[in-house]
Amino acid sequence: VSENSKNSAALQRLREIDREYRLLSHAAAVLHWDQETYMPEAAVRDRAEQLSLLSGLMHDRITHPQIGEQLTALGVAFEQDPVPRVPETFRGIERAFLRELARQYRRNSKIPRRVVTELARQTAIGQRVWVEARKTAQFNKFSGQLAVILALVREVSSCLGFEDHPYDPLLDEFEPWLKTAEVGEVFAGLREGLKRLLDRIKGSGKTVDTEYLSRTYELEKQKSFGLRVLEALGFDFKRGRLDESAHPFTTTLGSDDVRITTRYDDRFLPSAIFGTIHECGHGLYELGFDPSVRGTLLAEGASLGLHESQSRMMENMIGRSLPFWTHFYPPLKRLFPDSLADVDLRRFYEGVNRVTPSFIRVEADEVTYNLHILLRFELEKQLISGELAVDDLPAAWNAKMEELLGLKPPDDAKGVLQDIHWSGGTFGYFPTYSLGNLYAAQFFSTLKGDVPDWCKQVERGRFQTILAWLKENIHKHARVYPARELCTRVTGEPLNPRYLLEYLDEKFGDIYGF
Ligand code: ZN
Repeated sequence: VSENSKNSAALQRLREIDREYRLLSHAAAVLHWDQETYMPEAAVRDRAEQLSLLSGLMHDRITHPQIGEQLTALGVAFEQDPVPRVPETFRGIERAFLRELARQYRRNSKIPRRVVTELARQTAIGQRVWVEARKTAQFNKFSGQLAVILALVREVSSCLGFEDHPYDPLLDEFEPWLKTAEVGEVFAGLREGLKRLLDRIKGSGKTVDTEYLSRTYELEKQKSFGLRVLEALGFDFKRGRLDESAHPFTTTLGSDDVRITTRYDDRFLPSAIFGTIHECGHGLYELGFDPSVRGTLLAEGASLGLHESQSRMMENMIGRSLPFWTHFYPPLKRLFPDSLADVDLRRFYEGVNRVTPSFIRVEADEVTYNLHILLRFELEKQLISGELAVDDLPAAWNAKMEELLGLKPPDDAKGVLQDIHWSGGTFGYFPTYSLGNLYAAQFFSTLKGDVPDWCKQVERGRFQTILAWLKENIHKHARVYPARELCTRVTGEPLNPRYLLEYLDEKFGDIYGF
């Protein structure tokens, strides 16, 4: 048997195992999607067992002993180096496939099956407990379950191992090969810049009126407007759906099945509009992967930060831009002639971009949003290292909130209970939101250079050239390149906070007149 045919048999076997893993993960995604959209409340215990079983089966696939054997037979070295070493003979997609499979195999093999299934069970319960606790703003209703989940997550961290900080292996799940210390450094620069910008905004003395955003906006009309925007942005309804959930999200149930959700509030117009555009950005990324990665573990975003860059760019740089509303404000005003009667385009544009410290992350403006992330990053590191106990979390939250945003939350629902993430065991995820903002600004700067008349196109409601640019430069590559490498390929340099700060300075300098 020749070396070549031995290699192709090994690759074939690896592809089969990966294929089964993907099918199971898409089946689990259907259950998750249903849980967040249509599942009746009482089904949560059954659903927890179903998800726990599936996560165990997925774990069996991704840690299948044959993966290690076949990778070794192919000459892939993955035990020691942070980045698996793949022989030079493998190029392109094949090379990326082996690198990514080795990474996931090594990572998952270190976590005991018991921890994986227990985490799936406890987080399915945790999400329901959290919903109840948030409803009544009582952290003590959630703290017991959070402590159970946190203990499991800390166990995951110690199973995976780390050199510098126990947060490293958790961050690595969402942002492969990025270290806590590197994020800390980038965030420190960001914090300085944001503080300066906030001071200039406050110093401008200008107040931006947003009262009209809380008038009455009928839900059905909001829905039709959202669909109109999705169609213009190029979301393919033959390969996806829009539904409603308490927390907007995007999930992929198959190569041609990308689900996005939004939420509607008849007394707050921006909620649904910008939530829909945000998730559309995620959805377009998932729908834009090259067919050559279909059904494989490369059919993912390069990292969560990279994924978030696509939603943030769509939501903020495009969706909250003056050219966007030059096109979409007239039809919006026709839909809501009473509520928007006395609001002209400029007032609307300024209102949806108002900068003001607030309690809720998902409703925060583009400037203060990142301060909400810095707060969570600091607290998560302390929870994972054990410096901060779950019972002390609300007080620590409120203190950080005062320090960073100058606000004291009136209750835990507007404070420590506002986000779903910790109830789902996702620690290490929050920093990817700010990384997404940073990547988005850097990519957008390159895009503007390549598509100099982007403003004119958007003013006419034409998004084809922008989408084609995103697809060619970012979407089609899926997970073939690590995020760091993709950023350099597209923009010519590694992640640099300068781009976000420049973008924010220019935009808010115009709005606030400095
Ligand atoms: Zn997002």
